[in-house]
Amino acid sequence: MRTAIYPGSFDPVTNGHLDVLQRATKLFDQVIVAVARSESKRPLFSLEERVRMVVRATQHLPNVEVDSFESLLLTYAERRSAQAVVRGLRAVSDFEFEFQLALMNRKLNDRIETIFMMPKDTYTFLSSRLVKEMAQLGGDVSAFVPAHVREALAARFSSRPA
Ligand code: ADP
Repeated sequence: MRTAIYPGSFDPVTNGHLDVLQRATKLFDQVIVAVARSESKRPLFSLEERVRMVVRATQHLPNVEVDSFESLLLTYAERRSAQAVVRGLRAVSDFEFEFQLALMNRKLNDRIETIFMMPKDTYTFLSSRLVKEMAQLGGDVSAFVPAHVREALAARFSSRPA
C-alpha cells in the first residue's frame, strides 16, 4: 500500500490544490490530505471548517482521506505509515522555500520522500491568499474554488466589516 500525505493550511481549499491532489491520487493507493492547524498564520477559517471544506471537495475521489495534524509533519507522516509527502509547485517563487523545506525534512527523516507536482497551467497563479483577497473585495472567485467554498467565503465576508 503506497500512501502519500498532502499537507497544507487549505485556508481555503482551491481548485489548484484539488488539481494537484487529483494527480497524486493516480500515483498512490491512498492520499491523505493533512490540514495543518497553522495557528501562526492566523487562518480565516477554523481547522474544523477547513477540514469540512476539503471533505466536501474530495467526496468524488475514493482514495482520499482528510485529516488534520498539529505535530511535526514528518512525525505525522511516520505515524500514518506514509512513504511520501506531496507538495505543489506553482512557480519559481515557490521553489526556494519548498526546496529548503524538503531538504530539512530529509535530514529529519530519510525514509519519506517529498514529491513535487505542478498544477494545470491555469492554476499556477492561484493561491488561497489571493482568493481571500478577491472575495473580500467582492470579486467573483467561482473559477478558482468549488461552489461551497465560494459560498463560505461570501458568508464570512458579509458578516465582517470591510
Ligand atoms: P501551506 O500553508 O503549507 O503553504 P497551502 O494550503 O497554501 O499550505 O498549500 C499547500 C500545498 O499546496 C503547498 O505545497 C502549495 O505549494 C500547494 N499549492 C497551493 N496552491 C496551489 C496551486 N494553485 N497549484 C498548485 N499547488 C498549490
